[in-house]
Amino acid sequence: MKIESRLAQIGSTKEPKTGAVSFPIYHSTAFRHPKLGESTGFDYTRTKNPTRSVLEEAAAQLESGDAAFACSSGMAALQTVFSLFGQGDHLIVSLDLYGGTYRLLERIMTRFGVTASYVDTNDLDGISELCTPQTKAVLIETPTNPLMMITDIERVSAWAKSKGLLTIVDNTLLTPFFQRPIELGADIVVHSATKYLGGHNDVLAGLIVTKGKELSEEMAFLHNSIGAVLGPQDSWLLMRGMKTLALRMERHQYNATRVSEYLMSHEAVEEVFYPALPHHPGHDVQNRQSSGNTGIFSFKLKDARYVEPILRHIQLIAFAESLGGVESLMTYPAVQTHADIPLEIRQKIGVDDRLLRFSVGIEHADDLIADLEQALAAAKREIEEA
Ligand SMILES: *Cc1c(COP(=O)(O)O)cnc(C)c1O
Repeated sequence: MKIESRLAQIGSTKEPKTGAVSFPIYHSTAFRHPKLGESTGFDYTRTKNPTRSVLEEAAAQLESGDAAFACSSGMAALQTVFSLFGQGDHLIVSLDLYGGTYRLLERIMTRFGVTASYVDTNDLDGISELCTPQTKAVLIETPTNPLMMITDIERVSAWAKSKGLLTIVDNTLLTPFFQRPIELGADIVVHSATKYLGGHNDVLAGLIVTKGKELSEEMAFLHNSIGAVLGPQDSWLLMRGMKTLALRMERHQYNATRVSEYLMSHEAVEEVFYPALPHHPGHDVQNRQSSGNTGIFSFKLKDARYVEPILRHIQLIAFAESLGGVESLMTYPAVQTHADIPLEIRQKIGVDDRLLRFSVGIEHADDLIADLEQALAAAKREIEEA
């Protein structure tokens, strides 16, 4: 069955007793045992909850994995995955990384003796140079955020496999609707489901999807032992959001393409970073490994003085720190999402004071362009008058 149909039908046939189309929320944390040595399959909600299980089955299937684990946030999902590693282990990680993941690796995982090196993960020579006998995995974000760098997942995971390393892909920005890393050779997919999967800026959640029996069993052990699991109410909210994922992603992509083309032609804009645009260096790889483009892109202004007035004058577009929801949000990465990444790394990759990130919502593209136009014009007036 096509992915649109599978998404719309998440959980709809899982409750045969009443025929409920919307799967119920099971708040119970405890489950009665029929008798000694018997279980209904549910014992205690941290280990397994009926509502969360329906979500996890759907997520595993959508990402072509063997098992999925719903966590209380994207960071909880990453922490659970990183708990596969211990003293002396080393990871190779995408350079332009989500700030929170960088902070988790550098300030927490280092306490447990796990270290990481950062590199453009599309550069196989660069990766090979960093690989040591202690290296256990490659962590890829593609596209990266905010600079939208693309990594060839198939190529890197084939290399990783040849070295006995795990490939972990953070698939938050594309979702399984547009990209399925496990089909390209990855072992583990991670999501901040807070973003496109939830889609409405109203639920914090994370997902882990694993391929392979042994890895899936180890992840089930970690998920239950660490306990950063998603509650039943939030599991239901996430499933409800995922039912419309296909429609939303198509509109996000359409709007982001239109708005990015508009900004490309604007005199105040120096550069637009969006893989859907033919000039983007990752355009071909992105087209090959994904069936579409995310709804988020970044753009660099020619003059940093534009940033403050633009953020003050946008009206329909909100100045806020997240992405992937139906509402359009603009972020200033250098002082918000990426503030935890050291200045020298930010400068090296180009996350500077002229860069804005735009998570394009599902409003009408004409209204978004009109809002940007008035904000850019107001900014220009203020700069000229100053
Ligand atoms: C937001 C985000 C995270 C962290 O997820 P939370 O749900 O905020 O904990 C991780 N990776 C990427 C790419 C993200 O955008």
